[in-house]
Amino acid sequence: MENLWRDSDAEAMVEAYGRRGVNRDLALRTYTTRLLGSEPRLVLHGGGNTSVKTAVRDLIGEDWDVLCVKGSGWDMGTIEPEGLPAVKIAPLLKARKLQKLSDEDMVTLQRANLIDPASPNPSVEALLHAFLPHKFVDHTHSTAILAIADQARSKEMSSEVFGKKMGFVPYIMPGFALAKAAAEVFDRDPSVEGLILDKHGIFTFADTAKQAYDRMIHYVTLAEDYVRRRGKTPFTSGRLPQQTAAANEIAAMLRGAVAVARGEGRFDRMISEFRVSPAILDFVNAAEVEDMAARGVSTPDLSIRIKTGPLVLPPPAAGKLAEFRSVIDERVAAFVAAYTAYFRENDARDDVKRTMIDPMPRLTLVPGVGLFGHGRTLRDAQIAADVGEMWIEAARDAESIGRFEPVSRPDLFDLEYWSLEQAKLAGAKPKPLTGQVALVTGGAGAIGAATAKLFAREGAHVVVADLDAAKAGDVARAIGNQSIGVACDVTDAASVRGAFDKAISTFGGVDIVVSNAGAAWEGAIATLDDSLLRKSFELNFFSHQLVAQNAVRIMKEQRTGGALLFNASKQAVNPGSKFGAYGLPKAATLFLSRQYALEHGADGIRSNAVNADRIRSGLLNDEMIANRAAARGLSVQDYMGGNLLGQEVTADDVAQAFLHHALADRTTADVTTVDGGNIAAALR
Ligand SMILES: [Zn+2]
Repeated sequence: MENLWRDSDAEAMVEAYGRRGVNRDLALRTYTTRLLGSEPRLVLHGGGNTSVKTAVRDLIGEDWDVLCVKGSGWDMGTIEPEGLPAVKIAPLLKARKLQKLSDEDMVTLQRANLIDPASPNPSVEALLHAFLPHKFVDHTHSTAILAIADQARSKEMSSEVFGKKMGFVPYIMPGFALAKAAAEVFDRDPSVEGLILDKHGIFTFADTAKQAYDRMIHYVTLAEDYVRRRGKTPFTSGRLPQQTAAANEIAAMLRGAVAVARGEGRFDRMISEFRVSPAILDFVNAAEVEDMAARGVSTPDLSIRIKTGPLVLPPPAAGKLAEFRSVIDERVAAFVAAYTAYFRENDARDDVKRTMIDPMPRLTLVPGVGLFGHGRTLRDAQIAADVGEMWIEAARDAESIGRFEPVSRPDLFDLEYWSLEQAKLAGAKPKPLTGQVALVTGGAGAIGAATAKLFAREGAHVVVADLDAAKAGDVARAIGNQSIGVACDVTDAASVRGAFDKAISTFGGVDIVVSNAGAAWEGAIATLDDSLLRKSFELNFFSHQLVAQNAVRIMKEQRTGGALLFNASKQAVNPGSKFGAYGLPKAATLFLSRQYALEHGADGIRSNAVNADRIRSGLLNDEMIANRAAARGLSVQDYMGGNLLGQEVTADDVAQAFLHHALADRTTADVTTVDGGNIAAALR
């Protein structure tokens, strides 16, 4: 592994942070913490921590010897000095003589001795850092180290690979007991430069930041070299069909199968992140893949991301998707049963009251295809996929030099259901649309963009589909929540299909579709150009049908229901003079919405429309508004507020109506009017 330390970078950090009053120790600690944290083969999503022993002055001018140790919630790759809260070290050292210290008391002790009480919680491994005498202590869950530590004979192999300069600590769950055990191993031979923690990771330490970091890179490199020298191809090829189905053909079925049913047709849905690479395919295509998956995760804190390990599916044969769906159902049901049994068995070992986390897999391996990470948000799904890729590498490398044997199930359970680990996941309270994917056509227009923004704010990932790809991308970036923009001509079947394919490849499927794109043409009906009327029907009716057909196809694959939302218009119920070209297809679209409600209610797919009027948009721009107001002898303000409430109605008001329909899960075949009140256009 490449050593990224550069004297010039280190000194630049010391200087920059020095100007902010950060001392040299903490500046260098920040520097090497970032070096470690930016390498996923060392530190992945919370697995790892660092510390430095230094002195700080408190508010009343007293100096304290402190341990600045990584605080929970900080990413090592981007850490700042305040991510390494200072804890008075003397009380921590006194705790070493205790026989026992519960996790809750350990947290209390650490918090009670913070210099700044507003700091984040010090790492759960803080005591281990405190008990080691060196100034700089580095800890990672290096993938290469795990190939050695996750062995049936890890102790022997560790001394063979690393020699006498590394201590070996048997597996104990993080906390007080592990800190004491590690310190005892160190005390037996204080000449060691680090410790291998069985089934867990590695510590290195030294009196300078550079040396502690150099040692980490050195021992990781020894492990990498050993695997390269000694590793034998560990797997044989599994049997694949002549042609396997594509990821996009199975993604929606899989996403639906791993959604958590809350009963009565309601679901907590997942987002899926698909990954494929030669290394992933090599692993998932192996005949031994199920055996490897059953052995468990490579370091126990991965259990909070991917539970006991992945779900493994058989390879999907192209053209046999209906059969594959029942295979997915069977395998998911088996995974759920096994996870539930694992929970019950291990929960019964003591009297602690625990609630089982949903038993759905967070990682799925598909031979011939790749892997899917699952999570309630795309970010969580990506983390699961990242963790999956590193688990694959560690498991493969371990198997190539011996036998991959990670932490046991009971030990894994203790960590997965450890309150301090679960706390890492807390705080992410789901929003009303968390887990849902919304596709909005005409997404760069006034109503489309307002709706996309509101849906993203409420937790949905949004596919902003628009004729103008650049504008769609701008809207997606502005609304955030990992939303994406796609080019989509809603009158072109291939283009619509492409937008939905993109929703599947990015998020795994789609749950809410706002069929919004449209345009208006004017003209007296008796003399209307036939081609113009047909053109309007293409955009204002047939495109809605195209969009709805694609949505329903995917929603039926997912089997978790869904919401179709149509932008109808006041013209659909209350025709305006010379607006036939627009009103007629919109009237048909209103009935299209009802037709879908009628035919797909049994699939849990709801279909509703919003009937908005007089909204400032591309369809009713400022120039048109000025002309119409003038034609009626009204001010622009009076024209726009010409309704029962006397107030202008905006795109945001229309977005609220779409959101209402997305959330009202017992409402279908409905039309919501958003026009400030117009009795002539009121539905009866
Ligand atoms: Zn650790």
